[in-house]
Amino acid sequence: MISKIKADYLIIGAGAMGMAFADEILTHTDATIVMVDKNFKPGGHWNYAYPFVRLHQTSMCYGVNSTELGGDRVDEIGFNKGCYELASGGECLAYFDNVMRRRFLTSGRVTYLPMCEYREDGTAVNLVSGTEYEFQVRKIVNGTYMNVTVPATRPPTYSSSGGSVVVPVNELPNVAPKYENIVIVGSGKTGMDACLFLLSNGCNPDNITWIMPSDAWMFDRFTVEPDRRFSGPCTQYAIGALTTALEASDYDNFFDLLESKELVKRMDSSVKPTRWRCATFTPVELEQLRRIKNVVRKGYLESVSPTEMICSAGTHKTPPNAVFVDCSADGLPQMPLTKVFDGNTITLQNVRMCQQVYSAGFIGNVEANVAADEDRKNELTQPVPMPYRDEDYLRCFIGNSRNMLVWLTEPAVVKWINASRIDLFSPLLDFDDPETAKNIEAMNALMEQAVPKMEALLASKKA
Ligand SMILES: Cc1cc2nc3c(=O)[nH]c(=O)nc-3n(C[C@H](O)[C@H](O)[C@H](O)COP(=O)(O)OP(=O)(O)OC[C@H]3O[C@@H](n4cnc5c(N)ncnc54)[C@H](O)[C@@H]3O)c2cc1C
Repeated sequence: MISKIKADYLIIGAGAMGMAFADEILTHTDATIVMVDKNFKPGGHWNYAYPFVRLHQTSMCYGVNSTELGGDRVDEIGFNKGCYELASGGECLAYFDNVMRRRFLTSGRVTYLPMCEYREDGTAVNLVSGTEYEFQVRKIVNGTYMNVTVPATRPPTYSSSGGSVVVPVNELPNVAPKYENIVIVGSGKTGMDACLFLLSNGCNPDNITWIMPSDAWMFDRFTVEPDRRFSGPCTQYAIGALTTALEASDYDNFFDLLESKELVKRMDSSVKPTRWRCATFTPVELEQLRRIKNVVRKGYLESVSPTEMICSAGTHKTPPNAVFVDCSADGLPQMPLTKVFDGNTITLQNVRMCQQVYSAGFIGNVEANVAADEDRKNELTQPVPMPYRDEDYLRCFIGNSRNMLVWLTEPAVVKWINASRIDLFSPLLDFDDPETAKNIEAMNALMEQAVPKMEALLASKKA
């Protein structure tokens, strides 16, 4: 059976980005939307997240602009004590479900097609009933481009033999009580979360072996807490990074200075990080992670057996009665940057570093409220790369700064930034207040000076 659907926008993906974009269209226009997702519920990757997952950034600026998530509570207990609350995976899923049911569907302007896969020929199919859909729409919004991958949705990239047990991180609470030793495979945020889960449940750190293919620079959560004042931590962080670039003599010196100012932190003072993935921790969490001494830095894991683990740069003895916990999926792989606005297609990408949801909402606002041609819309939404290697820290700050300088020239964007709950990292841009206007001018001058210097620092990185 073929069903034909007419709407203004077809949004592929009801993950956080598709939802944040749709929310802006509903708020600022009368347009109709059809949302297609192969999942059974909105919320994208949160449907497959590990049971102890929490947001990596604060709840108060996550989700869609119109609907609060969790308020602005500060944690009074636990490893995140003193910082804004981080919603659990369950809370994120319930949130997106509520937004879909209570706001999107009741608006009468959204048609939601769960369990439907969008196909390259522009049609979609319901994976249960086989019903096919054809669309007559003005614009197609790709909310799948970021290609988020979590361990539960793909097999490990290494092989296992001799009866070794390898489980996705989702299984950790089930397997942890049954094995003497736990091997955590992967040093990204998921691997760190898995280690913290074990430590917070009293696991002896000596029973944890941590396969760490690479070390990454990290943020101290206290230094990037949301705050809309110029004097707030996040704006001061940005000023600190830009100023440090101006002071640095070369690439290596830049990271030395960042570290001496505690703008970045590392796990082990004797190992130089080669990655930066926006991972954010409290000092207490970092202290906990440093309790793990069995850290295997021998490259990427290639195969495991009950006796040994073969890595790309050497082998390591498997501890007795061990389970391997796969935390190695690259959650946010690097995708080639592409035009956001291209004819009748809008491709959702980051326009601010590490801020997917903010970026999708921002693009929705540009689509709805900026009356300009495609070139201007693209000028306002230059994609910022996904963080991966250490040099991406500079690339992201260059992208952020260039975008901010353009955003300040567009009144509809300034208005959105000031009113936006999903932007808690920009200072309020009140040009009528002399003190704020002075701060904005100073920040502009700093960004204009720092961007070419950051480019020079990038060029000075030794191969
Ligand atoms: C553990 C974890 C914690 C995170 N914490 C934060 C945080 O605190 N703050 C933050 O800003 N970001 C965070 N992120 C980043 C995260 O990428 C975003 O928050 C966001 O959830 C990504 O949403 P998305 O819509 O881009 O992708 P997804 O969640 O992957 O959604 C894409 C959707 O598209 C659907 N889809 C794909 N292909 C098709 C197709 N062909 N047909 C139909 N549907 C399709 C999928 O089913 C999916 O539902 C975190 C990421 C992870 C993995």
